[in-house]
Amino acid sequence: TPGALLGPAEIRELAGRLGVRPTKTLGQNFVHDGGTVRKIVRAAALRPGERVVEIGPGLGSLTLGLLEAGCSVVAVEIDPVLAGEIEATVAAHAPGADFEVVVADALDVTALPGEPPTALVANLPYNVAVPVLLTFLQRFDSLERVLVMVQAEVADRLAAPPGSRTYGIPSVKAAWYAAARRSLTVSRNVFWPVPNVDSALVALERRDPPPTTASREQVFTVIDAAFAQRRKTLRAALSGLFGSGAAAEEALRAAGVDPGLRGERLDVADFARIAERLGRPAG
Ligand code: SAM
Repeated sequence: TPGALLGPAEIRELAGRLGVRPTKTLGQNFVHDGGTVRKIVRAAALRPGERVVEIGPGLGSLTLGLLEAGCSVVAVEIDPVLAGEIEATVAAHAPGADFEVVVADALDVTALPGEPPTALVANLPYNVAVPVLLTFLQRFDSLERVLVMVQAEVADRLAAPPGSRTYGIPSVKAAWYAAARRSLTVSRNVFWPVPNVDSALVALERRDPPPTTASREQVFTVIDAAFAQRRKTLRAALSGLFGSGAAAEEALRAAGVDPGLRGERLDVADFARIAERLGRPAG
């Protein structure tokens, strides 16, 4: 009888039978190490019976780990060949488990079947990792916690504090929704095919956004403008958005921010205070 998780032989067998040729554009690197899967599941600190959404179940490596932990799983997979096989994989390895798959681009998913998920756990496709993460936090209020595996460098960025070298748009936008913490590094060797870089886990815990009268869209507009020209001062980087350098300077001063700083020094609450000045007449 099949074991609870997929090992190298099963990954090879499944991929061979389905004629899967992993593509880089879809970030298809499949985990073939049960120990890694269990580490991810443990790091996610899930409650038994918890409803989890998984993005990109692929051949089912992580899915089976989530089901082994007693979770109820809804998975979103873009590749119809992989999505078409996963129910059979679940039936063979975790009979009777509570599982369903949605065949779609995760970026297009605005509703999920069944109970609202409280956790997102995924080995994210590299090229869309940050947009998928931010989109799900925005669209699904029910998500309290996220544990994702991403490229190590992206994990560093998501969890970077203001002023650090890797702090940028993903760090500030993630901070709008959640407190992010970088966790374990995962060797590239647990994947087939082996990617060019190591991965790492990031854990995000939902929290309230900073109190502000600005909308999320306004705050994100200011963040995008501030980092679009990373080496410029905020006064220069935000002059287009506020109409002139003088208007940008006034908005920054009103928000209590030194106009001579660069965006990388500010936290999400600073960006929110600046955004409150958008659309207000100068003076
Ligand atoms: N979870 C599996 C594992 O750990 O072995 C596979 C992870 S693999 C890094 C990423 C998976 O995401 C692939 O199965 C790929 O087909 C799928 N994928 C890529 N882009 C996607 C998208 N926009 N929406 C949903 N799934 C996507």
